[in-house]
Amino acid sequence: MAAVSEDFLKKCEVKHNETLGRFVIASRHIGAGETVLLEQPTLLLANSADRRCCSCHKLTTSFCGQCRLLPLCGECASHESRDCQRLANLQLNAEQVEELQTHTEVHGALKYLLLREHTETQAQYEELLQMESQLGVRRDTDIWRHYEEEVIAPLHATGLLLKLHNGADIDAELLQRLLGIADINAYEIRAPETGGAMRGIYMRAALFAHSCLPNLVTAIDEQRQIKIYASRAIAAGEVLYNCYTNILLGTEERRHILKTGKCFDCQCVRCLDPTELGTHMSSFVCTSCIPGGYIVRHSDTGVWQCLLNAEHTLKAEFVANVLERAKEEVFHARDDIYRLELLLVKLGRLLHGNHYIMLDLKQHIASILRQILQNMAHRPNRKVYERKIRLCQEILLVLKVVAPGLNRLKAIALYELANTQAELGRKLYSEQEHNASDLLAELQQTEVMSREALRMLLYEPISTPEGQLARNMLRELKELQNDMKALQQSNDDVIN
Ligand SMILES: [Zn+2]
Ligand SMILES: [Zn+2]
Ligand SMILES: [Zn+2]
Ligand SMILES: [Zn+2]
Repeated sequence: MAAVSEDFLKKCEVKHNETLGRFVIASRHIGAGETVLLEQPTLLLANSADRRCCSCHKLTTSFCGQCRLLPLCGECASHESRDCQRLANLQLNAEQVEELQTHTEVHGALKYLLLREHTETQAQYEELLQMESQLGVRRDTDIWRHYEEEVIAPLHATGLLLKLHNGADIDAELLQRLLGIADINAYEIRAPETGGAMRGIYMRAALFAHSCLPNLVTAIDEQRQIKIYASRAIAAGEVLYNCYTNILLGTEERRHILKTGKCFDCQCVRCLDPTELGTHMSSFVCTSCIPGGYIVRHSDTGVWQCLLNAEHTLKAEFVANVLERAKEEVFHARDDIYRLELLLVKLGRLLHGNHYIMLDLKQHIASILRQILQNMAHRPNRKVYERKIRLCQEILLVLKVVAPGLNRLKAIALYELANTQAELGRKLYSEQEHNASDLLAELQQTEVMSREALRMLLYEPISTPEGQLARNMLRELKELQNDMKALQQSNDDVIN
């Protein structure tokens, strides 16, 4: 069995009910930042179209020379000998091997089936089978037919299944179940190449229920160990919630992703509140009630209605159209700060300032401003700093509501804000617009923010980008504190 940390056994209890299926509650009080689970993956899988080396997980086109069935890159000499041996012993002919090699998605299924082949891993296989597969919901859908063609047909055609232990028991239904388990339960993991992604199946981590307002944070380190910790204090008996989707998306988007990817309808507090906890992350401006009138989608009726006057409505098709066009425009304006700023004004006439598309735009603009500020050759003026500060503040206000407690995104936004304010303070001081005590007051403010940002990243594993960022933040915080001491000193000297 994959190693499960003591934490899970001591702090968690697995329950079952009709709506949630299996889920986990806190069996005792859990403090903010406390670990509830450390777990190694039972299976690592490539994303559907990718072919990854089964030893180092880098993208590759070559196969193991021994078993010929699993991808192995030129740099890796071998992979798990137990698996390699087992596959080699099947003695498939060249034609059969080729058929299985060309169907990339077969390789993931083989990894499942290999667990079943060895006495050492049979218990793991049995445990995997207990996981949710949503077989009923997926039956006869596109994904079902896709797997029939890409995985099940080649496995049958080559006769591979019949050569496995009790191979006759491995029918299409069982294979669909295994493939469904991966789709429903897998966590996305960073792949070896920058920006790449793959999937990991963690049997305990998969037990946590989902909420768009979670009380847990998930981090996966370089060694692919998952760490799940509390984002806030949790009382004994409370349900433990992870978030399977991006919290910076609007309700319809999030629910769509959860429905298509994980096969369930989210009923969390945020999804049921048309204003999304007052953030208005999906709200439209009511052009008849400017300023202050917003049109929201009522979760029970599905009608888009103004909060001030129920007769002001929008058609769902209109909403969908506007959003689709807006996303296209944001995509085309990417990297062009002037176009992005113009778009922000234009879309602001239709969408609430906190609408998720507006937030996406703001994040884009802020990241371009960061690049401008980092390059002193641009000689950025005060307005550039102020614009970035404002954007960070606006993004933070929303994050404070949808991600209360410890949160990576919030930590990073706060860190950006603190840094930019400190830089601006220093610039104004060097240009003699501000005196030493002004600068000291500004640095004191940013120190409070930096400490808060650092506190939110303290529980991240060290071998993650966020863990590294936390180390840098700690170093910068010390530098900031030294600067403040020096300033304090010179201030005191002036007074004396
Ligand atoms: Zn490799
Ligand atoms: Zn091999
Ligand atoms: Zn939800
Ligand atoms: Zn109105």
